[in-house]
Amino acid sequence: MTLLAGPALDVSRGAAARRAALTQLAHAAAHLGLDDGIHEMLATPRRSLTVAVPLRREDGSQTVLTGYRVQHNLSRGPAKGGIRFHPATDLDEVTALAMWMTWKCALVGIPYGGAKGGVAVDPGSLTRLELERVTRRYASEILPLIGPDKDIPAPDVGTDEQTMAWIMDTFSVTAGYSVPGVVTGKPVSIGGSQGRAGATSRGVTLTVLAALTRHGVPVEGRRVAVQGFGKVGALAAQYLAEAGCRVVAVCDVTGGRHRESGLNVAPMVAAAAQGVPVAEMTDGDPLTAEELLEVDVDVLVPAALEGVVTAANADRIRARLVVEGANGPTTPEADAILAARGCVVVPDILANAGGVVVSYLEWVQNLQAYSWSENEVAHRLQDLLKRAFDDVAHLADERGLTLRQAAHVIGVGRVAQAHLQRGLYP
Ligand code: NAD
Repeated sequence: MTLLAGPALDVSRGAAARRAALTQLAHAAAHLGLDDGIHEMLATPRRSLTVAVPLRREDGSQTVLTGYRVQHNLSRGPAKGGIRFHPATDLDEVTALAMWMTWKCALVGIPYGGAKGGVAVDPGSLTRLELERVTRRYASEILPLIGPDKDIPAPDVGTDEQTMAWIMDTFSVTAGYSVPGVVTGKPVSIGGSQGRAGATSRGVTLTVLAALTRHGVPVEGRRVAVQGFGKVGALAAQYLAEAGCRVVAVCDVTGGRHRESGLNVAPMVAAAAQGVPVAEMTDGDPLTAEELLEVDVDVLVPAALEGVVTAANADRIRARLVVEGANGPTTPEADAILAARGCVVVPDILANAGGVVVSYLEWVQNLQAYSWSENEVAHRLQDLLKRAFDDVAHLADERGLTLRQAAHVIGVGRVAQAHLQRGLYP
């Protein structure tokens, strides 16, 4: 039973995320003057699949987990989005994350619709064999939905390149031949792209630097705090330190470390890769994940989960710039408070888009049975993100919008245009 969804407080994270996503959509729809019919179409996921994932544990006992795959929108291309293994994952959360993927792909101009999937499970509570069983059974249950032309999963919270390798293998064994393009974020040895592992963090770093430059603030010595020390947060902290920032605080779910003169990030990243929790690291002084949000810094990078900056703590955030490595970390109420206080928020669908951009590049390489150098991938990533950042900044300036509002107006507008040009069947 410990594998099943967590307490009510945790489960409501999904409902709050879905409400936030719908609020952001409503604002963009009003700004674009979309009619109620198209607004309703964009608010409604195209397909939502809930599956039972029976698991035989190594001790011989059996339990049934719940998995999801939501395809929010398919108007601009195949569905694309990560798979999350987390005890509090539910249909609301996956739906919100799928919707954000739709706008993100449109914003950065890659030919995908949005999707997301997940299993309500704590991967840390499973043995490696159990994790493989859960992954393969979940993959086989969503098999009718996925495929390189239909829906292409990728890693998210609690999953990694090994998860993608198992999904790719399960799909390929069923097909009878290798289908590398069915997932992205897989190991390079089976068709993964150079540069995919750090792509989201690279994108976060590029957007931090672009936002600082836009406001005429030098990068050197900027104080940064990063919440979440997983695939996105750890490398974002490392790349930001390499770019000249002073990373003064980092944390994961176990707790964090703080040192005003700057943490020595690279060894912490190496320790995290070996499975050492941040709370057990020795650099700096301890602090909690909640305290990290309120540390006196120039830049805050939330890179863990949704709904961490809320109406309850927004007026205590001291950063002048919040760059959303995570999806949905700021509630709409907190957004308004931060904007009123002059804090600039670079929204998730722009700041963390580096991951899906390089996923797209991986998929293109797979479809062409070709591979590019890390340099080539890095240049393409930089070009696509720079264009998206400039589009958002320009629209925000022109119409007096926040960066989030501008990003949604562009993303939602492009998807609405695709719907209108394709027409409604029948
Ligand atoms: P991950 O599982 O690799 O890491 C998550 C990190 O968050 C871990 O360090 C975990 O300990 C920490 N965490 C969890 N709950 C926390 C809490 N309450 N307080 C502080 N830390 C907490 O996941 P990830 O892939 O790094 O994803 C992080 C965020 O970035 C998610 O919102 C995800 O949707 C988003 N994102 C990920 C990618 C990607 O390529 N992996 C791409 C775009 C967006």
